[in-house]
Amino acid sequence: MKQAPIIWTNVLLFSITTLVAAVGVPWYALSVGFGWSEIVATVICLGYCGMSITAGYHRLWAHKTYEAHPFLQWVFAIGGAFALQNSALHWSADHRVHHRHVDNNDKDPYSAGRGFWYSHIGWMLRDYPGVEKPDYNNCRDLQKNPIVMWQHRNYLWLTIATNFGIPLLLGIISGNVLGMLLSAGVLRLVLSHHFTFFINSLAHIWGKQPYTDQNSARDNGVLAFLTYGEGYHNFHHIFESDYRNGIKWYQFDPTKWFIKTASWLGLTRNLRVVPEERIAQAKVKMQLQRAIANVKQRPNAEQLLQLLEQEYELLLARMQDYYQLKKQLLLQRKEQLVAQYQAVDFRQRYVEFKQHLQQQQQHWQRLVTAFS
Ligand SMILES: [Zn+2]
Ligand SMILES: [Zn+2]
Repeated sequence: MKQAPIIWTNVLLFSITTLVAAVGVPWYALSVGFGWSEIVATVICLGYCGMSITAGYHRLWAHKTYEAHPFLQWVFAIGGAFALQNSALHWSADHRVHHRHVDNNDKDPYSAGRGFWYSHIGWMLRDYPGVEKPDYNNCRDLQKNPIVMWQHRNYLWLTIATNFGIPLLLGIISGNVLGMLLSAGVLRLVLSHHFTFFINSLAHIWGKQPYTDQNSARDNGVLAFLTYGEGYHNFHHIFESDYRNGIKWYQFDPTKWFIKTASWLGLTRNLRVVPEERIAQAKVKMQLQRAIANVKQRPNAEQLLQLLEQEYELLLARMQDYYQLKKQLLLQRKEQLVAQYQAVDFRQRYVEFKQHLQQQQQHWQRLVTAFS
C-alpha cells in the first residue's frame, strides 16, 4: 500500500526542535551550564504555554465550559501561538471531531485505535487520506469570536514573534541569549508539545475507566501532573461540558484551580459543572457492568445477577432521593441567605432613618426655640 505523503514542514519542525533539545541542550548544560534565570524562565514559559492550551484552547474554546474576559482570551491567544499547536480555531475544530468520533479510525483525527505513535505525533507527520479535514463548520461560534479569528489570521507571525521574541527578550534581560534560546526557547517547546500530545496518546491507553468504557479515554493521575490536570480524560470524554477534569479536591487539576480563581477576580464566569447525581450514576453503572461480567463466570450466576440488579435499582432510588433533597436544601440555604441579607439591610436602614429623624428633630428644636 502506498504511504501517505509526508508533511515536510511538520517533520522538519519536530525533528530539528527534538534534536536541539536532545543534543544541544545537554551539551550546553555540561559545557556552559544553565543558571537559575534560565530554569525559572523555562518553567514559567512552559506553564504559560500549557495553560493556554488546557484552559484556553481546550476548556474555553473547544468545549465552552466557561466564559472568559477578553483580556484573558488575549493572553491565551498569544500563549497558544507560543505553544505552536496551530491556531485555536484549527485546534478546536480537530478536537471537536475527536470527541464526536472518538476511536473511529477513519474520522477521529488522532484516533488511539491507530496506536501510540499515530495518536501522539504520527497524525501530524503525514497527510493521511480519509481523516476528515476540518472545514471549521463545527466552530461557527468561534468564527464569531474576534480574538480567535485575529489569532487565526495572524498565526504565523505570532508563532515566530513569540517563539523567538520571548526567549530572545528574556535572554537580553538575563544577559545570556544562547542559554535562554535553548532552554526557554527549544526545550520548553519540545516539552510543551509532548506533554500535550500525551493527552491524545497515553490518556487513551494508560489508566482507569471509572465513568465509561464506551471510548478508550482513561483517568491517570501521573499524566494529570504533566498535563495541568487533563489526565482525568475518562471523566472528560463523558462530561466534556464540565470545566473540571479532576473533580475531587485531591486530584491534580491546576487548570480547574486557575479557572476557579480567575472567577473570583472577575476574569471568568458561568463555570459549567455536571450535576453530581449524573456523575455518581455513571460511576455506579460502570461498577455494575464490571460486577456482571465477573459474576457470569460463577456457578450460581443467575441468582447473583438478580441480586446485583435488585441492589443496583435500590441504590439508584436512594441516590435520587438524596440528591433531590440535597438540591432543595441548597436552594433553601440560598433563600435563607437572601433573607438574612435583607434583614441586615433593613436594620441598617432603620438605624440610618432613626439618625436622620433625630438630627432633624434637633434642628427643628433649635429653630422653634429661636422663634419662641
Ligand atoms: Zn476535550
Ligand atoms: Zn481524548
